[in-house]
Amino acid sequence: MDQERGMGIGDTESLLDCIVIGAGPGGLQACIHLGRYNFRVILFHRPGGRTWHAKRIENYLSHRIISGPDLLETGLAQAESFGVTVEQAKVERVSVRERHFEVQAAGKMYRTRFVIAASGARESLAPFKNLPRFFGKSYFTCMICDGYRTTGKKLLLIDRTINGVRLSIGMKQVFTSDVTFLAHGFSLTPQYASLLEEEGIGYCEGRPEELIGEEILEGVRLADGLTIPCEVIMGWGGISLNDDYLEGLSLERDAEGFKILTSSTGESSIPGLFVLGALRQGHSQAIISAGQGAEAAIEISTRIVEL
Ligand SMILES: Cc1cc2nc3c(=O)[nH]c(=O)nc-3n(C[C@H](O)[C@H](O)[C@H](O)COP(=O)(O)OP(=O)(O)OC[C@H]3O[C@@H](n4cnc5c(N)ncnc54)[C@H](O)[C@@H]3O)c2cc1C
Repeated sequence: MDQERGMGIGDTESLLDCIVIGAGPGGLQACIHLGRYNFRVILFHRPGGRTWHAKRIENYLSHRIISGPDLLETGLAQAESFGVTVEQAKVERVSVRERHFEVQAAGKMYRTRFVIAASGARESLAPFKNLPRFFGKSYFTCMICDGYRTTGKKLLLIDRTINGVRLSIGMKQVFTSDVTFLAHGFSLTPQYASLLEEEGIGYCEGRPEELIGEEILEGVRLADGLTIPCEVIMGWGGISLNDDYLEGLSLERDAEGFKILTSSTGESSIPGLFVLGALRQGHSQAIISAGQGAEAAIEISTRIVEL
């Protein structure tokens, strides 16, 4: 092992084994594995993140139902119990040096052999009035996460593209017979409109402005004043990556220049820099991020102990 590892963890001159960025399921699971190797690890995180917004996770092994905040709080305590240093601070920059990385956070520079970027993404939500009141409760953006929660309910599917037609048909096949498609700001061609009719799916057009209801969602008010009743909405979202601190690094990305490309263990095109969760290609789920965190940590540990 590197001789520099003898220095104290609070000393920013010393060389850490790994810095983990982000305390979602991916970063936390990586920390739990790394901490159980007695490595010197700092976890930087900020409050929030996508898992924090998940009010009711039902597809995470061994938890029948758990809220995102509960999952994260338990995971953070578990990581700390194995000696991981936790710092609540935004990572500002990661720079590549000859044999290590420099990580800038909270006005200090930290040196580390490995970096795990697990900072996830943030939602770009539609600007509907009252949306925060219902987001994750009855307004959903992800069929994998929350399609099940629309089972048997009166569903309004809102989309700005014809993709919404396909999604409406899929939702009806699997989750609920009561589906209406709202084409947000455009009109369907007669061919697509009759396809919906054949499938027994309602169709309307307009510009949604406000979600109606106090505790319980009752419907959506359009710009022309019309209200469309519904119990649940599958609506458009979109994400932006929390990757500003990686700016300037020559990371290989997908054809759109968006998601970061990695090996199966999560290593990016920059050796020693691992990437998890929404930052990299693939499906984004809490349990998948956690698995990726474990895999990256194990790969790092085999390199540190030179197995
Ligand atoms: C409403 C909603 C419901 C969902 N429901 C489910 C579900 O039921 N089941 C499921 O499996 N998945 C669900 N998901 C998806 C799931 O949340 C993501 O797949 C998961 O968040 C990925 O975890 P992660 O560790 O990659 O990132 P995240 O959970 O997004 O965590 C990233 C962390 O990094 C921090 N961070 C960001 N930038 C920095 C920085 N510069 N410095 C330091 N820290 C930083 C963030 O603050 C955050 O704490 C849901 C998502 C949403 C939005």
